[in-house]
Amino acid sequence: MQVEIRKLEGNEVELMLSDSTPAFANALRRAAMREVPVMAIDEVEFKVNDSAVYDEILSHRLALIPLRTPLKGYAFPGECGCREGRCPKCSVSLTLKREGPATVLSGDLKSTDEEVVPVSGSVPIIKLERGQRLELTAIARLGPGKEHAKWQPGVIAYKYMPVFELDEKACDGCGDCVKACPVNIIELVEGKPKITDITLCTMCRGCADVCQPKAIRIGSDPTKFIFRIESAGGMPPEQILLKAMGLLGDKLDEFSKQVKKL
Ligand SMILES: [Zn+2]
Repeated sequence: MQVEIRKLEGNEVELMLSDSTPAFANALRRAAMREVPVMAIDEVEFKVNDSAVYDEILSHRLALIPLRTPLKGYAFPGECGCREGRCPKCSVSLTLKREGPATVLSGDLKSTDEEVVPVSGSVPIIKLERGQRLELTAIARLGPGKEHAKWQPGVIAYKYMPVFELDEKACDGCGDCVKACPVNIIELVEGKPKITDITLCTMCRGCADVCQPKAIRIGSDPTKFIFRIESAGGMPPEQILLKAMGLLGDKLDEFSKQVKKL
């Protein structure tokens, strides 16, 4: 298998996996989305909530605010050894205290660990009217996306490499396919359609549908994948990928050990 990094910018990484299989691409995607743990608010203690929104709804909103996850790592609450899952090894407290009139923002959360803070300070949580108060302590913990979406490190997706096939004899060079392509990747070169960048093809088959002589066929290559990771901001995308590969490797090692015992 070959891996080529096509793009690494901000919270996004795009790879090309060649000489691979759908099973591998899917296993990597699932490991990244479901197994790579990040920090998220898991419990909220309300001291005062005069706002128009119930505690439960506010807690849910708080949980979905992406938090930075330091690489040094926290322990999973179940594996830490403390009983309540509230010690400094497995939890971080974030406190919030505001009085209206105000729009309470994620940046109002004050963390006990400066490395575990909201990725963005401008996520609105609730609007408080004059005299309304909100005071709470939120406990953030490490967890995997398979337990709750709040612990998903980002969006991970892949697509098969598109394949554009042209029957040159049948093609009459009408140019209808050029107009039909929504991502404008077809141009006429010497009267025949040519693709400028096949990786941008969405496989909508718009070009094939408008082609009267049926000269175009859109297919896909099941050994080549464009793999994309967009981090929610808690962890750099390349770290999500590296961790996912490590976790997948660990699982396979364990599987192989178990099989050898049989
Ligand atoms: Zn603990």
